[in-house]
Amino acid sequence: DPMIEAKSLSKFYGPFIATRDVSFSVPQGEIAAFLGPNGAGKSTTMKLLTGFLTPSEGEARIGGFNMAEDRIKASELIGYLPENGPLYNEMTPQGLLKYIGQARGMSRETLKQRLDYVVQKCSLEDVWGKQIGKLSRGYRQRVGMAHALLHDPQVLILDEPTSGLDPNQTFQVRELIRELGKTKTILLSTHILSEVEAVCDRIILIDRGRIILDGNVEQMKGETGQME
Ligand code: ADP
Ligand code: ADP
Repeated sequence: DPMIEAKSLSKFYGPFIATRDVSFSVPQGEIAAFLGPNGAGKSTTMKLLTGFLTPSEGEARIGGFNMAEDRIKASELIGYLPENGPLYNEMTPQGLLKYIGQARGMSRETLKQRLDYVVQKCSLEDVWGKQIGKLSRGYRQRVGMAHALLHDPQVLILDEPTSGLDPNQTFQVRELIRELGKTKTILLSTHILSEVEAVCDRIILIDRGRIILDGNVEQMKGETGQME
């Protein structure tokens, strides 16, 4: 089974078609880029894959589990970085991540290990006890990554993981994604071609709600040059 599978996913808002018949699959261990201009349907597709939105038509499968039928099993496999990062402005990264770990039923021991891991991987030491609402965009994004990584999921679905970051932060997040890609299956969305070349094996190109190309990075370069 592929780890991530979109099967003819469509999402309609009344007469408006956000995505139409979106199909692709990402095998285990691949880092796939979901590339397309703003409004193309990337976030919508990612919310359909993670179960945050219900498809109008089609099916999302994660690790072979149908999101509609085996939601709990499918969700356990996924770490999701939403488009706008964490919205828990009053909490500290420490408080938020502890709460999430406890809500997931982690033992004290596991939670401690996982917190140590994400603090270090996401470089959160300096902001661990500060209010999320007062952090910079870059730090908020890293809190979002820590949230996505906390339960050590096999699949990462990352919506614009470097958007709004400065070049140094972008470099660090890309390094982290490359490292995570050695053991995890990753789908990341972006509207920047250089992001794809920097970290991905595979490109899935979406425009106006439809998949228009799917292949390896070299094949796609000519076709997507105008998006730079
Ligand atoms: P992307 O992530 O590629 O920028 P989105 O998936 O966010 O694109 O949006 C795809 C299209 O669907 C856009 O035209 C957007 O305005 C529209 N859309 C997204 N969510 C909703 C919604 N809840 N209601 C109506 N239209 C929506
Ligand atoms: P849902 O549609 O399940 O409420 P979304 O995250 O897609 O979840 O939308 C968040 C909110 O934004 C919703 O209240 C939605 O109606 C509203 N919305 C309306 N139009 C748009 C749009 N064009 N793009 C994004 N969100 C929109």
